[in-house]
Amino acid sequence: MSVLVYHPFDPVTRPSCQIECWRQLAALPPEWELVNQLCVSSFDYSAGLAEVWDGDHDLIIVEHDNSPTPVMLAEMVACREPVCTRPYQIGPASSHQLVTFPSVRNGPSLPRVGEMIPTATHSSIGCTKYSPAWRAMVGRPERQLWYHVENSLNRLVAGNPGAWHVHWPMCGHGH
Ligand SMILES: [Zn+2]
Repeated sequence: MSVLVYHPFDPVTRPSCQIECWRQLAALPPEWELVNQLCVSSFDYSAGLAEVWDGDHDLIIVEHDNSPTPVMLAEMVACREPVCTRPYQIGPASSHQLVTFPSVRNGPSLPRVGEMIPTATHSSIGCTKYSPAWRAMVGRPERQLWYHVENSLNRLVAGNPGAWHVHWPMCGHGH
């Protein structure tokens, strides 16, 4: 089975936070396909995702300020669960000991680092995997503004299977 890594990036937003992401992507297995999606318009994230949605590849999203290692991504590809996520920390490591799900926008009940929950009903999508069978079942997400993509994918997951499979440890995050 093949693997496609979808990397939406906006070079203007916090470029120093994207260096480690590019470094890790450069180390991906050569047989994996990497799609670097330059995001200029607010619809580019969604449009690029639609273009890589169909097919029998495992699809991984790595957003521009996340820096999962290739091994972390390979673990997610090897997993039989249809939708997987890898959390990442927000805020300075020394203060907010929080990870990114449930979404900040969904309420204050963020799990703390070390609370390694196995599933999440809502997740950020900065480091996520989608199996080909699951994508075929739910269909392509609609064209939308970039900041709506997360909720759109969470709605699809809420319909089936109902929760994300969570992979630990966390991946790096630029800010
Ligand atoms: Zn998994």
